[in-house]
Amino acid sequence: MAKKQFKAESKKLLDMMINSIYTNKDIFLRELISNASDALDKLYYRSLSDNESGLSRDDFKIQIKIDKENRTLTISDNGCGMSKEELESNLGTIAKSGSLDFKSGLEGKSEVEIIGQFGVGFYSAFMVSDTVTVVSRVHGAEEAYQWESSGADGYTIKETEKSEPGTVITLKIKEKTEEFDYDKYLEQYTIEDIVKKYSDYIRYPIMMDMTESKLKEGSEDEYETVVTPTQLNSMVPLWRKNKNEITEEEYEEFYKAKFYDYEKPLLTVHSKTEGQVTYDALLFVPSHAPFDYYTKGYEKGLQLYSNGVLIMDKCADLLPDYFSFVKGLVDSADLTLNISRETLQQDHILKIIAKNLEKKIKSELEKMMKNKREDYETFYKAFGLQLKYGVYADYGMNKDVLQDLLMFWSSSEKKLVTLKEYVSRMKEEQKAIYFACGETNDKIDMLPQADAVKEKGYEILYCTDDVDEFALQMLREYDGKSFMNICADKLDLDTDEEKEELKKENEDTKELRDFMKETLGDSVSEVVFTNKLKNYPVCLTSEGMLSLEMEKVLASMPNSNGMKAKIALEINRDHPIAAKLKSLFETDKETVKKYTKILYAQGCLIGGKTIENPAEFSELVSELM
Ligand code: ADP
Repeated sequence: MAKKQFKAESKKLLDMMINSIYTNKDIFLRELISNASDALDKLYYRSLSDNESGLSRDDFKIQIKIDKENRTLTISDNGCGMSKEELESNLGTIAKSGSLDFKSGLEGKSEVEIIGQFGVGFYSAFMVSDTVTVVSRVHGAEEAYQWESSGADGYTIKETEKSEPGTVITLKIKEKTEEFDYDKYLEQYTIEDIVKKYSDYIRYPIMMDMTESKLKEGSEDEYETVVTPTQLNSMVPLWRKNKNEITEEEYEEFYKAKFYDYEKPLLTVHSKTEGQVTYDALLFVPSHAPFDYYTKGYEKGLQLYSNGVLIMDKCADLLPDYFSFVKGLVDSADLTLNISRETLQQDHILKIIAKNLEKKIKSELEKMMKNKREDYETFYKAFGLQLKYGVYADYGMNKDVLQDLLMFWSSSEKKLVTLKEYVSRMKEEQKAIYFACGETNDKIDMLPQADAVKEKGYEILYCTDDVDEFALQMLREYDGKSFMNICADKLDLDTDEEKEELKKENEDTKELRDFMKETLGDSVSEVVFTNKLKNYPVCLTSEGMLSLEMEKVLASMPNSNGMKAKIALEINRDHPIAAKLKSLFETDKETVKKYTKILYAQGCLIGGKTIENPAEFSELVSELM
């Protein structure tokens, strides 16, 4: 059977193109400028191969003109131009890309970096214009032609005059409506902004006459209009230059201007990668967290360029959450662009780049930790929290990437230390990496449990952020050593002999301990005598995974369902209070009850837990006094 051809309703198609491909009207200018740049590239390429004389790349330029009175915006180039047939086929056929044909004809000779490929960009002009007029003259030809269209109704082509070769595109800008202010496209500052944002690195000068009203020289109230031809784009992307040609200051200025920071970056990473995927990356780590960094409003992402043209301002897929503080950009010609060139086709190239960047960022941070410790501490103060969240997030999936970037305050070094450093200093018989949690380093210093650990000469890591303990629990161990909260019941510092003695003591005092436990009801799961306290009479310890600190964190979250840590009241067996309790238990059980309540309240106070019944506590204390 003979196949029938699909017929496209071109009016509808054009309407669809104009109104649904793009989400952002501004990009019409990016598309027209990219076309002009392609036209210049083609002419340049031809001049190379034809040995045409009299053509100098220095003369190539793109010119933008605003005519407010007539509501027109004009984009001209002195590139290759289009013949009558080319106007017909390139602009009369939707999704026909003369540029793609041209590129295919080059067979991979890639000195030219042609941007166009889909054959739809031109039509984006209709998003903002009532009528689009193209006047073009092919380089080397005498005659010129005018193509004109008001959108869906079709187009006309007629012969016309044009003194120079090249193309002039005139947009009759739409009238302002309630929904959209088209007038802004007749403002020189809007145009300047859009060019800077999307087309800053087009490799030909984009010129516009900037008009300014200035006080006349020598006059105090008379103004004159001054017109200055201005180049809007900076042309050379900093990241395309050779590293050794770029000064520190240039990087800094670039970072500050591009990412709106008043301080210079802590770290700059500039890399060129060739191979599986070819791309340039320029990354920065800020020296301080942006004000909204730890809020939902913060958007991570890198700028994404394709051949120097901005495709996405914040490409989130390029950065893992735990490195969301990194600013910068990636430029690659290998990306598979979506037809609107506003987004990408989800593609594996992006994944490869993201994976490489992650490795690069990690190794650069490690280098900074090793060689510029002070800088790293500054970095860690700003973004360490994010790394710790990263360890905890996704069920610890990324802990291996992150564990060596973590730092904690050390009880013995009195500064931030890494897990690697901690382990390298561990005593031979030391079983675990000890840590303690509290609001501040000072408060942790005063924890009764800390004394015994310090006395053994063991270092303690101080956890003062809510997420710390969750992160350490997610890590479970580092270099084969497990983590141990010094406030946990199974903190095991005693020798076998000491253990035996303590066991016997607890057996002998079972009645007393049960009596005390009953007095406290559900507040504790048991009362025991302990060796681990040196100066303090009591402490509270938690059993199992949920510590006192975590209980506090969870209690502050909505839907915590009142999760409770399982708490033991531990009494220092060497403290006079221990002997006192034992003797009172024989003679005066009522007083033992009161003592028990007071001791429990003390444990709460020292451990940073609120006392359930402060009035009763103060009454009991006064009574005994
Ligand atoms: P694309 O740029 O993706 O190819 P467009 O719809 O933007 O698609 O343009 C269609 C074609 O029209 C281009 O491929 C090019 O051949 C031609 N063209 C557009 N603008 C110009 C111009 N300023 N000079 C020369 N040719 C142009």
